[in-house]
Formats: sequence, C-alpha cells, structure tokens
Amino acid sequence: MAEYNSTSTKAEEFIHDGKIRETLAFAQAHKDDLDLMREILNKGREYGGLSYTEAATLLECEDPEIIRQIFDLGKEIKEHFYGNRIVMFAPLYLSNYCVNGCVYCPYHGQNKTIPRKKLSQEEIRAEVIALQDMGHKRLAIEAGEHPKENPIEYILDSIRTIYSIRHKNGAIRRVNVNIAATTVENYRKLKEAGIGTYILFQETYNKEAYEQLHPSGPKSDYAWHTEAMDRAMEAGIDDVGCGVLFGLDSYRYELVGMLMHAHHLEKTYGCGPHTISVPRVRPADDIDPEAVGNGVPDDIFKRIVAVLRIAVPYTGMIMSTRESAKTRRECLEIGITQISGGSRTSVGGYGDELDEEGGFDSEDTAQFDVEDRRTLAEVVDWLIDMGYVPSFCTACYREGRTGDRFMSLLKAGQIANICQPNALMTLKEFLIDYASEETRSKGNALIEERLGMIPNEKVREICRRHLEEIEKGNRDFRF
Ligand code: SF4
Ligand code: SF4
Repeated sequence: MAEYNSTSTKAEEFIHDGKIRETLAFAQAHKDDLDLMREILNKGREYGGLSYTEAATLLECEDPEIIRQIFDLGKEIKEHFYGNRIVMFAPLYLSNYCVNGCVYCPYHGQNKTIPRKKLSQEEIRAEVIALQDMGHKRLAIEAGEHPKENPIEYILDSIRTIYSIRHKNGAIRRVNVNIAATTVENYRKLKEAGIGTYILFQETYNKEAYEQLHPSGPKSDYAWHTEAMDRAMEAGIDDVGCGVLFGLDSYRYELVGMLMHAHHLEKTYGCGPHTISVPRVRPADDIDPEAVGNGVPDDIFKRIVAVLRIAVPYTGMIMSTRESAKTRRECLEIGITQISGGSRTSVGGYGDELDEEGGFDSEDTAQFDVEDRRTLAEVVDWLIDMGYVPSFCTACYREGRTGDRFMSLLKAGQIANICQPNALMTLKEFLIDYASEETRSKGNALIEERLGMIPNEKVREICRRHLEEIEKGNRDFRF
C-alpha cells in the first residue's frame, strides 16, 4: 500500500485511506476527552485553522457544552473574517448530456427517461438575460461530461457568450466553472477564458465507494478525478472549489478526506481551496436518496459546517438551494459565506420563452429538486431582514487577487476592509435596478448603517462617493 505523502501528486498518496481510518479511530477513541476538545477549541480561537485529526475529533464530541462552543466559535470566526456579507450566485446548466454513470445523478448516461438538452449560444443569451434581470452578477456554469456534445470548445464559447451580454444595467462579472475533470491543456484554456473558480466536487473521497458509485465513463477513474485540482493548479488556475456530496459515504470519512485534500493543496501549491461546498444528496428523476444510503441528519450537518469553518477559516463556504430556508439560515450563522438564490437546476430553466417556443419543459431536465424555491429578490429581502448584506461583489478576481494573493490578504484580516465597501456598492446596484420599493428602503437603511462602520476613513469616503455615483446611474465600482 502507498505511503501517506501530503505533497505527492498521486491521489492515493495525498488522500490516504489508511491515514483517514487511523484518524477516525483516534477521533472515536477520544470522543469523551473533554480536555482535548477544549484544547482543540482553544487552538481554533487563534483563527489559524485545525488539522484534519483535530477537526475529526471535535466532530465526534457529544458533550452539549462543547457542541455549543463549536457553534459559537464557528460564528465568531465567520464574523471575524467575513463580517455580515453574504455573496450571491446562481448556477447555469448548459447541457445535461453525460457519458458517466454516477448512480446518484439523473444525468447519468444510462438514464433513458430524462430528456436531454444542450443550450445553443442563442439560448444561453436568453438564460443570461433572465439571470441579469434578476440581478445576478456571478454564475457557476454546469455541464455533464460528453466529448461530442460538450467539448471544451463549447464550454469556452459559452463563457465568451456569457461575458459578452449586457442587458440594461446587467452584466455577469464572474463565471465559475463546474465541469468534469480534464487535461492541463484544457484547464489552461479555461484560465485564458477568464474563469473565476474551477469547481469540482469529489463526491466521495472513499476510493472503494467512489468506484461503486461511478461504474462507467471517464469519471470512474478515481485518480484522474482526484488529481484534477493538481492539473488545474499546474495550468495556473489558483482558485479551485472543492466539495463532497454528503450522503454518499460516511460523513466522517468525507470530512477528513476533504480536509486532507485542502492540506495537500496548501502544502503543495501554497494555497488551499478558494471555496468548499457542502451539498447533500437530494431526490431527482431516477434517484432515491434513501437508496443511495448515508443520509446526514440536520444536527450533524450543522456541526460539520461549524467544524469546517473552524478548520479552514480562509475558505469560502457555499450552500445551494438544495437546502431549505431554515437550514440555510442556521448555517449562515455558523459558517456559510456564499449562497445561491432563485436557482434553476435544469437546462434552460431561467428563460421562459424557451419552454413556449420549444414545447420543452425544462423542469424535466433538473439535476435535483430544489428545496429553497424563493426568487432572488425574496432571498435578498430575507437576508436584509436578518441583518446580512447580500453582496454581488466579484472584485477580487477582476483585480487579480486570486490564489495566494487573495489568501494572504484574507489571513492578514485585510479583506474585510475591501469586502464590506464592495458588498455595499453592489447591493446598492441591486436595490436600484432590481428590488421592490420595500426592499430598497430597508436595504438603503442597512447600507447607511454599515457604511459608518467601515474602519478606514479614506475608504469610507470613497465608498460614500461611489454610492452617490451609483444613485446617478453609474455602475461597477470596486476596491
Ligand atoms: Fe454526469 Fe456530473 Fe451527473 Fe456524474 S454528476 S452523471 S458526471 S452530470
Ligand atoms: Fe469576495 Fe473579494 Fe469581493 Fe471580498 S472583495 S466579496 S473576497 S470578491
């Protein structure tokens, strides 16, 4: 068996099954050791993160007082690094053609009941205009893996189309890409196309479970999939987004695997993942989550979010509309920094005209059922009511603050001075261009209150001037 080596570029060496099992055994054996738990929490309070062993141990503790402290610390760390801004995004499904056999996804190649659809560039235009009219500025594009239907050229054309569209005051300013593991050469092309984050969920880190859940197609190769972030880094993409699909295998194993992956990226490339996503298995066409098998209950799920927040304080954490408004509210408090809103998880789900003209019901092509079905405007209003600043900021990557540059600013606590004014200015744009009068007035009061809390006087004054400019019709200011 391979030795554990965190800086190896071989999947089985940097995600080491033996080491994960050893870690889980240690965590189990120490689950009642409250002194150790307090020690780990104290380390977390230094805001420097935790090792995967410490995180796994903390997650095992059933003591109510320690659990309360885990949530409190998650909240404290979130407030320290991210303030009260919540970054907004939407997924855009380009194509559900797929040659892979993932047993938990309705797009798997063997599913003959789901209608297949790939958007033309004209249809992408319609989708993007619909998204811009909602107020979105940041998208995550999604496509199945299909060499004939969805080659890299199709993805690149689609990115170009998305960036080129200007409708009223709308613009998509950051396109994140969630496509199958690919070659260094293709990652270079994505980098050149100006993508934000390259996102690829590992699904499960357990190789044995992975091979059972992915019986066919290129994705069935565990090493090819697991080493994708290394190839992306080699190609110069330094903002990568990790994630697992909770519910496929034991959540304990996944937590350690994901943190081991983050550790590997940090050690090898000097920069951990830009984001971590925490999806749970959802029902869909041909998919029954009960049959897939390792469902994570809500209380454990929240603990996972808080432990991750403490373990990787510099990594953004994303929660989609797979989760209910209630779960999203609770998780926003203890760690989540980015959420989607008004999402459609189907191909062509945003452009109504598409359905009428084509006689095509996009809902039939959904990848999973959405739990939070509110519109973006409703989600924004809800966030403002809770005192959060919904942010449509895309500044960092456009200012070249990616990878370790972004991380060092964040670690130095600098980013809070930059994020806050950017959040206020992009919220102002949203309030003027897309919000109801009621939301606008609540939002303006929040902006006024938060503006006064920007510590740097010069930044505060520039931000105030930019807000006035936005009132006059100008757009796209950033720090
Ligand atoms: Fe295809 Fe991705 Fe679905 Fe797997 S998860 S079947 S690769 S779309
Ligand atoms: Fe994100 Fe950078 Fe904007 Fe902050 S300034 S919200 S880190 S893009």
